[in-house]
Amino acid sequence: MLAAPLAAQTPPAARETEGGGTGSTSYQVQPVIEKRQTGKPHQGKVLAAIQPHCDDIPIFAAGTVLKLIDEGYTGYLITMSDDSMAGAGASYGEIVQKNERDTVEVGKRLGCKDSLFLNYPNHNMDAWPIAEIRARLVYLFRALKVDTVLVYDPSALYERNPDHYITARAVEWAAAIAGSQWDYPEHFLTGLKPHSPRERYYYARGPQLMNRVVDIGAFMEQKVFVNMANVTQGPAGDLGAQLRKKLNEQGKRLPLLGNDDDSANRAYTRHFALGRDRVRGQQHGLEYAEYFHYIGPDQSDVDAYVERNAVSL
Ligand SMILES: [Zn+2]
Repeated sequence: MLAAPLAAQTPPAARETEGGGTGSTSYQVQPVIEKRQTGKPHQGKVLAAIQPHCDDIPIFAAGTVLKLIDEGYTGYLITMSDDSMAGAGASYGEIVQKNERDTVEVGKRLGCKDSLFLNYPNHNMDAWPIAEIRARLVYLFRALKVDTVLVYDPSALYERNPDHYITARAVEWAAAIAGSQWDYPEHFLTGLKPHSPRERYYYARGPQLMNRVVDIGAFMEQKVFVNMANVTQGPAGDLGAQLRKKLNEQGKRLPLLGNDDDSANRAYTRHFALGRDRVRGQQHGLEYAEYFHYIGPDQSDVDAYVERNAVSL
């Protein structure tokens, strides 16, 4: 007996359409494990790693950004707020400057081509017209030809920080309309073309519909190094060295923190600041992982049917 064609044996895999607007409304989502790919399958594609504050992408998505850039993407880091309200410094102005410097270093350690700053008021982005934020993002998505965005999940639960949810909502709709010829047509006078990001990786601090587990094992050490660049604010920076010094003054030491400041910072960041990556990895048989709600390119059921069923005349 002849083997049936593969397409006839197995039904097409269910698409990851949750959140796409026309797909499933189910809360039952099946996580897909995204493994490291060899070669440069994403050559020519552009990603925007978008964060309200300088430590958001480093904490929740740096492993995936590193992986995607390793696989060929060109990356841009976009920071939405002016980071004026968080961190150590003598004054408001100094904190802004120190966070800006840290963020430029984060972008370099991620391998991004550039770091862009939109400078909205930290902790107060909900006071700003979201349509203005969205318009600037539409411009950037067109100018940079962004194919993929990584940002906070606009549908995550219990997110209390307005900078997080306003950024998420602004990106969500900007990515949808950037490909429209009717939205902001004045852009086209400058030579820009409609261009929409087609893939979204949404990260969250609270419960979300998680359907994508990215294996970041190969990029964990670099992710640690990225997080160590945020010394003004954030959970990593040089906190390991500070703890080692404090314990030393008390006549104690933690073997975990090693014998010098750099070892202490690395161990502290890996073990404490990024401990969730270890827990998340273990739940899926991996060493380290990041979680996302992933929304892939819209696919046409008509095109898929034509591809499977069209015959020659
Ligand atoms: Zn934040």
